[in-house]
Amino acid sequence: MFDFTKHTNIRAPRGNRLHCKGWGQEGALRMLMNNLDPEVGERPDDLIVYGGRGRAARSWEAYDAIVRTLLELENDETLLVQSGKPVAVFRTTEAAPRVLIANANLVPQWATWEHFNHLEELGLTMFGQMTAGSWIYIGSQGVIQGTFETLAALGRKHFQSHTLRGRLYVSAGLGGMGGAQPLAAKMLEAVALLAEVDPARIEKRLATGYLDKVVPTVEQGVREALRAKEAGEVVSIAVPVHATELLQYLVDHNITPDVLSDQTAAHDPLVGYVPDGYDVKEAAALRAADPDEYLKKARASIARHVELMLTLTRRGAKSFDYGNNIRRVAYEAGVQDAFEIDGYVPAYIRDLFAQGKGPFRWAVLSGKPEEIYKLDQLVLDMFSTNEPLCRWIRLAQKHIHFQGLPARIAYMGYGEREAFGVRVNEMVARGELSAPVVFGRDHHDTGSVASPFRETEAMRDGSDAIGDWPILNALLNVASGAHWVSFHHGGGTGIGYSLHAGMVVVADGSADSAGRLERVLHNDSGLGVVRHADAGYELAAQTLQKNPVKTPLIGPETQPRRK
Ligand code: NAD
Repeated sequence: MFDFTKHTNIRAPRGNRLHCKGWGQEGALRMLMNNLDPEVGERPDDLIVYGGRGRAARSWEAYDAIVRTLLELENDETLLVQSGKPVAVFRTTEAAPRVLIANANLVPQWATWEHFNHLEELGLTMFGQMTAGSWIYIGSQGVIQGTFETLAALGRKHFQSHTLRGRLYVSAGLGGMGGAQPLAAKMLEAVALLAEVDPARIEKRLATGYLDKVVPTVEQGVREALRAKEAGEVVSIAVPVHATELLQYLVDHNITPDVLSDQTAAHDPLVGYVPDGYDVKEAAALRAADPDEYLKKARASIARHVELMLTLTRRGAKSFDYGNNIRRVAYEAGVQDAFEIDGYVPAYIRDLFAQGKGPFRWAVLSGKPEEIYKLDQLVLDMFSTNEPLCRWIRLAQKHIHFQGLPARIAYMGYGEREAFGVRVNEMVARGELSAPVVFGRDHHDTGSVASPFRETEAMRDGSDAIGDWPILNALLNVASGAHWVSFHHGGGTGIGYSLHAGMVVVADGSADSAGRLERVLHNDSGLGVVRHADAGYELAAQTLQKNPVKTPLIGPETQPRRK
């Protein structure tokens, strides 16, 4: 008998033995547990998965209740989860989702960290980030291709090169998502130098193969990085210091990195950013004793951090905000010029979103890495003319260590996702894979998010803050029969700054799964293309011409435009 009551060293069951009454429920159960696997989540003992305080469940009591309910849930019932706490089971239909999740949503006037912190303290809500509270986090791999694509586009745009060989990438934060930076930079052949204030996070990146080495001082880190850059070597180096200490050293010694970014969890200054002058332990003590004072110090440090980034940018570093809202937090702390730093979506990723491409992913419930390699081969066979996708799969095979259930990330687009999902379902049906496969994606995707300082920054028609699209996305995925669907607030850029939706479908080899995969994977990315076509992106309009959606869409030329 599998022990589902554990709260430490949680590990999802592997293989094709069903513990629930259907694979939809089983998939949700295993992926929830996988989020809290110590190989996968950042602080599973506190239910924290990644991204500051992104949690999988509100409390251990809530976690136990979710697990018990999923084990009992019938195939025509739907479990409702309100900010990490299960609140009801209703009879729906077999074709409906098995789980519906809403996390951290607040009425707009109340959508501030101050209100959120108060409500969290009362035990009424939970921060779900994006894939933490929606149970489709796959470790640092979940962001690595996004980081790779961003850096690759930056290389093409600024250095007219397909690699970053001979370039120095400087950044900070080696947490759940930030930990992907050194490996993504390495895949592009750069030298990466990263500041991380928590030595335990550095150890985790070394242990999972995302980072090459740590050196004790900034002086040594800079020296080794410059030597490697000069020699055309490829290496990633961490220094156990605050971001500002590394950047101040570079400014003082007149050293300008080629590329500059940041992945501290600055979107959540109270939990995700350690202020200057404090180590992790001292910061935790101050946070508990005097949160207002903590916030004052964290915001002042973030302001200094962005001032230093601006100095290096003006000296020639190609810098970008990588989705942690650091510019906005600094702006609110008085740094008027913070938005001189580019946002990575308008600068490098929007064209992918316009084609319905984004961080699509799958995990094999068998737990067998060789089944991921089998699916890698299927991607290479099915999409042999899509060179960027094939290049990615080969690089991922070479560089990525699995965390928890073996998984793969791949920026697939409109049309590709459902074709692939249906083929995989056939392989499950024929027994070519020994257990079902889970398909999902980040909420950070083409049509599932409104976030004016990230995914929807500087939309062509000015629709950055329009929140209807992610709501339509969630509703459409429910109507299309995803196995679980989520709607969250605040992921990526923090409370008040984003609305976003997620979906997951399980391929169990049945005709029912085939229908769900075909509908959900098509409609989900199709809506992303429609959203971008509606905003006037030509690439999206061209994508729709190749693979039309039945639509009363008014042509982009007749749409009102941003003045
Ligand atoms: P995390 O909470 O797991 O990690 C943050 C890390 O920053 C921690 O290791 C922490 O010790 C470190 N840190 C905090 N203050 C520091 C300082 N002053 N100097 C150096 N290091 C410091 O968060 P994460 O999951 O890695 O996410 C990082 C940020 O990226 C978040 O804001 C998140 O919302 C955002 N994010 C972006 C994307 C994307 O696609 N661009 C995806 C996911 C998350």
